[in-house]
Amino acid sequence: MNIDVKLLPSGGIGYNFPSVNINPMTFSGICDYMARVPKDDNLGKYLFDIDMLKSEDPNILNCYIMDVDFLIFYKKLITVSEDLSYQIEVKCPECGRKIKKTVSFEHDIHFKQIDPKIMNGAKIELGGHSYETIVPTVREFGRVFSKYLTYRKVTDLKMIKTIALIKDFETRANQVEEDVLGATHNDITLLLALRDLYYDQLEPITLYCPECNKGLDKSERRGVTVSVESLIVDFFRDLYVNCPIDGSKILFK
Ligand SMILES: [Zn+2]
Repeated sequence: MNIDVKLLPSGGIGYNFPSVNINPMTFSGICDYMARVPKDDNLGKYLFDIDMLKSEDPNILNCYIMDVDFLIFYKKLITVSEDLSYQIEVKCPECGRKIKKTVSFEHDIHFKQIDPKIMNGAKIELGGHSYETIVPTVREFGRVFSKYLTYRKVTDLKMIKTIALIKDFETRANQVEEDVLGATHNDITLLLALRDLYYDQLEPITLYCPECNKGLDKSERRGVTVSVESLIVDFFRDLYVNCPIDGSKILFK
């Protein structure tokens, strides 16, 4: 199925193709995925997911990382759910009860509105050095990512994505890495703001424990927030929970 690039978190700004092609996985596709996806290896898993999308549409290489993160989520969502809804279960931090919620793509998944201005990048000061930022595409991210895949000096994916926001990595890799990893004070705030602008485009989902919020006013309710990103992890493990077989599917003799 073709997804209009205007519907992606970036709004499709700067793309010279109108849509990307993403399809749900079949049963054999899921089994193959489960067998081959690297286990306990965040970086390897991310590369595997990107390669899976690329095999369906080579233009994925030209998509921004912020869009690809969404597309990884979307592919898994259309695989497990026909109506684009997904049931999640979260433990209430107050009482420990499990709270269930059906997350609907239409009602619960919201992107922050992207400002076209930020897509042109910015000039920043970090660790006393001047840098330029970019919104990395998969191709640009790949140049940074491949170094960390080989040497594993940094294994935090979000950190690598943050480093990839700095264009000067191409020419001053060590300095950029030092300035990001060793950031202090104001520089930390700056890096968090950059992450927020370029990667955290999906708004978290809030769940309310019915027990702990019993009898409370809407304004008094205390919610538990779940980031949509965290739902991508181990998506298929919950497949059985989310797609229970109803009586009409198997008729015992
Ligand atoms: Zn509770």
